[in-house]
Amino acid sequence: MSLTNATPNKQAEINNQATILCVDDEANVLSALRRLLRKNGYQLLFAENGLEALNILEKQPVDLIISDMRMPEMDGAKLLSHVAQRWPSTMRILLTGYADIASTIEAINQGNIYKYIKKPWDDNDLMLSIKHALELKFAESERLRLEALTREQNEQLHILNDHLSERTLHVEQREARLGRILNSSQNEIYIFDAETLHFIEVNEGARNNLGYTLDELSKLTPVDIKPDFSEDEFLNFVQPLFKKQQKQLIFETVHQRKDNSTYPVEVRLQLSHTEQTPVFFAIIQDITERKNNEQQIRYLAYYDSLTDLPNRRFFMEMLTDSLSQAKRYSKNIAVLYIDLDRFKQINDSLGHSIGDGLLKGVAERLNTEMRNSDYVSRNESMNSSNDFCRLGGDEFTVLLSDISQAEDAALVARRIQDALTKPIMIEGREIFINTSIGIAVYPNDGDDIDNLLKNADTAMYDAKKAGRNTYRFYNDSMNAKALENLEMEIELRKAFELNQLEIYFQPKVDSKNSNICGVEALLRWQHEKDDWISPADFIPIAEENGLIVPIGEWVIDSAIGQCKKWHDAGFVQMSVAINLSSRQFQDGDLADLIENLLNKHQVNPNSIEFEITESILMEDAELATKILGRLKKMGVQISIDDFGTGYSSLSYLKRFPVDIIKIDRSFIRDVHIDFDDAAISSAIIAMAHSLGLKVIAEGVENQQQLNFLRERNCDQIQGFYFSQALPIEELTLLLADPTAFKK
Ligand code: C2E
Ligand code: MG
Ligand code: MG
Repeated sequence: MSLTNATPNKQAEINNQATILCVDDEANVLSALRRLLRKNGYQLLFAENGLEALNILEKQPVDLIISDMRMPEMDGAKLLSHVAQRWPSTMRILLTGYADIASTIEAINQGNIYKYIKKPWDDNDLMLSIKHALELKFAESERLRLEALTREQNEQLHILNDHLSERTLHVEQREARLGRILNSSQNEIYIFDAETLHFIEVNEGARNNLGYTLDELSKLTPVDIKPDFSEDEFLNFVQPLFKKQQKQLIFETVHQRKDNSTYPVEVRLQLSHTEQTPVFFAIIQDITERKNNEQQIRYLAYYDSLTDLPNRRFFMEMLTDSLSQAKRYSKNIAVLYIDLDRFKQINDSLGHSIGDGLLKGVAERLNTEMRNSDYVSRNESMNSSNDFCRLGGDEFTVLLSDISQAEDAALVARRIQDALTKPIMIEGREIFINTSIGIAVYPNDGDDIDNLLKNADTAMYDAKKAGRNTYRFYNDSMNAKALENLEMEIELRKAFELNQLEIYFQPKVDSKNSNICGVEALLRWQHEKDDWISPADFIPIAEENGLIVPIGEWVIDSAIGQCKKWHDAGFVQMSVAINLSSRQFQDGDLADLIENLLNKHQVNPNSIEFEITESILMEDAELATKILGRLKKMGVQISIDDFGTGYSSLSYLKRFPVDIIKIDRSFIRDVHIDFDDAAISSAIIAMAHSLGLKVIAEGVENQQQLNFLRERNCDQIQGFYFSQALPIEELTLLLADPTAFKK
């Protein structure tokens, strides 16, 4: 809804009629206000202190009062609290210095002020706030006017009631009076038979609005103009009237005209037993205007009319809600405080209309770009454009109401900054704008709204000091960690796009004869020359930001393709194991993807094995059962990786179609010297065999470990003792040498 366009007349009315009282103990402030406000044709009044202001208010109505905070004797907060009590319809704006922020917040919380503006104020901002406050006041008085109409509706009901019960009058007199009442009313009045429900009388107002003639209406019942109600439902609904449990029913509903258009109404329904047959009479008020008005009031109270974004009040309420949710469900939330860099300079040098345009442009850009960003899929709360709010001036906020870790907030901050890198076109000019963003995270950085906002604001100043167009966490340690992870994320994205990731293959050997029976595909990332980044470091990040989905797809595609190549080269026993992360499971079409790739490469599915961790099964057993069931049908093998580190419930595993257990290497490391590890490993092997599962030990580094595992009949061995993960060519050479692993 755009108010600036929708209410030009109201606006003129507001400007001409509105009376504004300015209160400040400094004469130069008053004259600055005079200079600014007289341009707009407001009626202006001035007072130098609180008492003088109250005197003026006693004498004449004032639409809006703008008061300084610091004044001798009675400060602004106190003055406005008086005004709020005695003249609640007078809008109240407080001008404050930075030092008064605590008492200002208190005044806001008590509902005594509509808005506060920091001194020195921005002319534009102040003018907009005044305009906005007056619009709100106007809408509020409209609401009161409509309420008065409702009262009138009620009175009419009484008159009708009296009329019907007045036995003393002659029939003609009664008829005449009824006609007068019916047709003088602004409301719609229906009288209908309580037994047949057929309309008996319908006033002109109602006929005009509904579009029916009296003749047509006499064949209809209320159910015809309220088609979502059946006759039975209606009779049920009016039972309390028949049983005299209630004198009248008041409800809001929607009526349908002859042309099928609809309009909202408020209905007052009464049953009269005074006639020979009981009749209903209903007085109906078309509340389209009221509804629009309510919407407008809500809009004015909660939205910023320049940018159409939710305003400070909205933000504070939203933050309060989110905070109580976060406390109840132990969630993390983040508040991002966004400030446009050098906005004041742009505003001063290029003029206010460019400044306004820029604020609007930023709001639009944020809404569109952020909605399209892939962050949306990660965070439900980012789905709604309402998450950006304009606090005032050039300050915006974002609330992330459920983040899994602080870095998520950094990600959003960076997206915001990215979204604004392209210039914004205003009046044919390209304007470049940067932002400084401060981040405060609940619970670490405060556990109430004031502290969170204050700390986000402080962090924003740190960001500005750090050189603008950056973001900063309130908490320093998070800056370093977030920065590191985000840098890695950027680099990883780049590496993936530039095909710099590689897949190495680590042999798995048959423990009986040391023949290579398969390989495990393991990702390798050579960041710079001699600088390898471990998958243990980059995979969690790729999982967190979703990059594991495309990377994983590429791994599956390449690994299956490579398996086929080995088969074609004569190594027909080769099998390839591929690691899957839970993120890939959740992505939805994993089974389809694998099916397509198996078809694409025409490989024997039996030679493809997928390694998953226990946690995947535990996180969403239903989903896991579904996907694994489909994979099994395709004929691939499933193994449980890192077994022993998670829930380690073999009996639980029976519920899933699993073929192989991989004993985690933490049990293998000391298996030949540590009694517990030996016992656990032996037990896993024995139990797995009893369930008909194969067992593979990972991380085998020496002959003693190998001997131990052989004695226990562990089926396969993987580890540096045989080989590290190798590039394709080296692995192919190994395959061609049958004596390679004779240990
Ligand atoms: P994982 O699946 O348990 O892989 C086995 C890890 O143990 C590999 O580490 C391997 O190099 C290492 N390893 C094998 N033998 C020995 C040994 O004898 N001694 C020692 N100390 N280590 C040994 P890597 O390659 O660093 O991979 C780490 C983890 O990253 C993997 O653990 C796997 O969870 C994950 N990962 C690797 N590639 C992928 C992939 O393509 N997709 C997914 N989702 N995860 C992957
Ligand atoms: Mg693995
Ligand atoms: Mg493992």
